[in-house]
Amino acid sequence: MIGFDAAEYRLIEQWVREGDLPHLKLLRDRGVHGRLQSPIAMGDDAAWPSFYTAVSPAKHGRYFYHSIRPHSYRLPFWSDSDLCAEPFWDTLSRLGKRIALIDVPKSPLSASINGLQLADWRVHGRDHLPCSHPPELAHEVLARFGDDMTDRLGTEHALCGHGYRQTYDYPGFVGKLLKGIDDKLALSIEWLKREPWDLFLVVFKEAHCAGHKLWHLHDAAHRSHPQQGGADVDAMKRVYQALDSALGELLVQAGTQTSVIVFSDLGMAGNFTANHLLDRILLRLEWAQRNWWGRCRLAWGRFKLATGARLLGKDGTNFERSTRCYFDVVHGEQAGAVRFNVLGRDPKGLIAPGAPLQAQIEWLSAALMELEDPETGRKLVNDIVRTDQAFHGDHHDRLPDLLVVWDRSAPILAACSPRIGTIRAPDPELRTGGHVSDGWFVASGPGISPGAAGTVSLMDLAPSVAELLGAPLNGVDGQPIPELCR
Ligand SMILES: [Zn+2]
Ligand SMILES: [Zn+2]
Repeated sequence: MIGFDAAEYRLIEQWVREGDLPHLKLLRDRGVHGRLQSPIAMGDDAAWPSFYTAVSPAKHGRYFYHSIRPHSYRLPFWSDSDLCAEPFWDTLSRLGKRIALIDVPKSPLSASINGLQLADWRVHGRDHLPCSHPPELAHEVLARFGDDMTDRLGTEHALCGHGYRQTYDYPGFVGKLLKGIDDKLALSIEWLKREPWDLFLVVFKEAHCAGHKLWHLHDAAHRSHPQQGGADVDAMKRVYQALDSALGELLVQAGTQTSVIVFSDLGMAGNFTANHLLDRILLRLEWAQRNWWGRCRLAWGRFKLATGARLLGKDGTNFERSTRCYFDVVHGEQAGAVRFNVLGRDPKGLIAPGAPLQAQIEWLSAALMELEDPETGRKLVNDIVRTDQAFHGDHHDRLPDLLVVWDRSAPILAACSPRIGTIRAPDPELRTGGHVSDGWFVASGPGISPGAAGTVSLMDLAPSVAELLGAPLNGVDGQPIPELCR
């Protein structure tokens, strides 16, 4: 299995058609291909666990790189112990399958892998420092190739940060991505030669990083697309082509008797969001809904938040959230995330579960759908996702309650509606590419006949691989893809 993290489907389609990705084309011509549905309105932090546990976010419990803990208003960074489901490689390991894993994003180091695992070496948004089983492998890899070169936030190697800068070392960034692909290919070839693995799984991060940082160079319709000549508008294509070349070499090494699945978890598009406006919108809506006593409580919460943070150096977030019926929780730019303050679930819940909560969800959803751009009248919200309806499982208390999917056609610098009036904010100047749902896969090998598989779930890949290995997974949400497992 070869993962190209967040490699956009429309780009793959175009460049396969135009002959720029010959190895992917070859694999598609002789195999089966289709789309992969990722958890709706969620990003890579939820998608990767859904891939490797084959269950929905309401079962594995991860929605972002912060986590919601039941009975708390705090959102600490994700910790491995928060994961509520088992990676499929642990199940396969118990059945004696030999496994090699390189850099599956957002995945913990397995306690029981039957083989080799390298985690968080060159991963976009890694959870830990590089680590491995056995432990000395990570040291060897770091000594030979060095650490990550683009994604180490807080260091000089943070080229793949969240912001947009007009003056930016694009050639340097692209060079490091290309070198990263070369290094990971070299390591993968060595590992492939070690033994005839039952499952060999490597994930390349470079399409993800390129998508976030280079989108405007590629997309002529983007507002930051360079107007003068001389800009490297093909930089993203070169990254995808380097991934395709690496695929070619891996295919040679794997041989024609090996089943190969190439896949991406998510896509990319222009990065426009109203997440920076959402909490103010929610506050205004709640203010409009409350009586004088509710408004006093809200004002007191805001006062404690402001004075705690600014005067006393304390964080008043806990208190402020306890005074509100709903508030914004941190999420990726593709969707705003809203949490209700529910009696019995949250420390100082204000809304009773059942009918009162349902009524509040409906009221707020309708109010958010009314939001418009005050200048153009453009509708700002494409969809509201209720996580209790979209995801099946017992851990809804670890997810936001609503995900607000923004219109992505242009920047969002203001929002208005009859209920909130108008709210404006400065341009957040974000990285120019951001995620859209859904990935894709291509598979080829003995017993896989050519064709199109349509759309399946990202959760179906692991059960398909397990089925191919004669070790079906039980109790997961995904199902073997029939076209792969005839
Ligand atoms: Zn991303
Ligand atoms: Zn990155």
